[in-house]
Amino acid sequence: MECAPVKILMATSEAVPFSKTGGLADVCGTLPAEMERLGHDMTLILPAYRQSRTAAAPAESTGIHFDIPIGSKIVSGSFSKSHLPGSSVPVYLVEQEQYFNRAGLYQEDGKDYKDNCERFVFFCRAVLEAIRLLELEVDVLHANDWQTGLIPAYLKIEHRGVPGYEQIGTLFTIHNMAYQGLFWHWDMLLTGLDWKYFNWHQMEFFGNLNLLKTGLVFADRLNTVSPRYAEEIQTAPLGCGLEGVLQSRRDVLSGIVNGVDYREWDPATDPHLPADYGPETVDTGKPICKAALQADLGLPVAPQVPLIAFIGRLVDQKGVDLLAAVMREWVQSHEAQWVILGTGEPNYQDQFMLLADRFPRKVCTRLEFSNRMAHRIEGGADVLLMPSQYEPCGLNQLYSMKYGTVPVVRATGGLVDTITDLNADTRGAGTANGFSFREYSALAMAETLQRACNTYSQPEVWKRLIQTGMRQDWSWANSARGYVDLYRATVNQVRRGLVAGGA
Ligand code: ADP
Repeated sequence: MECAPVKILMATSEAVPFSKTGGLADVCGTLPAEMERLGHDMTLILPAYRQSRTAAAPAESTGIHFDIPIGSKIVSGSFSKSHLPGSSVPVYLVEQEQYFNRAGLYQEDGKDYKDNCERFVFFCRAVLEAIRLLELEVDVLHANDWQTGLIPAYLKIEHRGVPGYEQIGTLFTIHNMAYQGLFWHWDMLLTGLDWKYFNWHQMEFFGNLNLLKTGLVFADRLNTVSPRYAEEIQTAPLGCGLEGVLQSRRDVLSGIVNGVDYREWDPATDPHLPADYGPETVDTGKPICKAALQADLGLPVAPQVPLIAFIGRLVDQKGVDLLAAVMREWVQSHEAQWVILGTGEPNYQDQFMLLADRFPRKVCTRLEFSNRMAHRIEGGADVLLMPSQYEPCGLNQLYSMKYGTVPVVRATGGLVDTITDLNADTRGAGTANGFSFREYSALAMAETLQRACNTYSQPEVWKRLIQTGMRQDWSWANSARGYVDLYRATVNQVRRGLVAGGA
């Protein structure tokens, strides 16, 4: 019984290659294929956005249409079908022209779509319809982030005892506590759920409807994307106001570090790099990548000058205020080069553009989302900076280790679980794979970066650091086994008749 394959329906708002705004898409696009490799039945369901249609995997109509009640109206949709490239995992796309055929996923020009609650009420109800209409056999419904927070509630409240649904357990994964799907209280009408659930133990949060909280309350089990973040969110400030809810559910809350898809992120096979390399050949391959990157970026091709990179969203969470502060000082005082790849808040975009304009021989800023450039930077840079305020898991530090690019990170969330700071002990034990600092300050970051640069000029120590990181295995193979255990725990919990949520 214990070894029987588990049947999982994963509901997400993003998954590569169909749609992506962040790490959620990487996880949901790669974990299912790994689960399939481990012998489990995986099905993925997500909205059919405009960007999903141009993706690598074409979708075909299933011819199955459905109607969903949204407040006082009925909205029609349909399912199309595709599969996850490199696997046979079926992917169902929820088609609804008005809701999903838009330029962005959640917003345009920095403004959230006004009907986001309505759009994801529709999606969550469509997922439950899919089980019936597509005759899916499901042991565990795996929901992710606020966009799917209503699914566990619908299952507990509306589908209790309904044939085909009564044995389904729910796992809810938190990828980022700060995005909660918070809407005004009247949107409760759109959900179709009774007002009695709009109370501070269940769906209400200081007078508003909170869809992340709804998922946290009604799911059978909860997890997040690193063990450290699972602890951090049980207290303020990282619980973002929901620390009490998470404490009350700590018996079913755990953390699993995300894996890396090494088919996509491996310098030995990366088509974006001018030279292939691995741990044995990094000494010859990486300098070629560095020189090509420096040339690409319009920086002097200087092999001895450390090239420091940042890749990510230019938002407070990522610590870009510290980054800008340290850069402003270092461009005057240090022989280092900087590359910034990202988009985000206009104020930060301006700061990094200004630095690049004033110091073109030291700074290159690329305000774009470019997968190719992200790969080339991982290949060519010496140091990758992640001074995050908080970081549920973080993926770039994992990619950078594989590429022999040394991470310098703030010790928070998944960065604690994956990066071991170089100090006398870890140096002796050969376990160091980067540098980290605790205090959220420009001073702490600058000191740590200085330590990294000092080490950079000691080639033997630097080489050892690089080798340790490159040889570590952060593939999905390990993390997926953690998910298998979680799925089984969810199934067992449901079979034992434990009911969460108090519906
Ligand atoms: P988050 O999900 O908080 O944005 P993660 O580190 O978990 O942060 O994942 C971010 C993902 O998005 C990584 O795959 C990263 O390489 C990618 N990414 C972020 N910004 C850019 C960009 N400007 N260009 C290309 N890839 C980017």
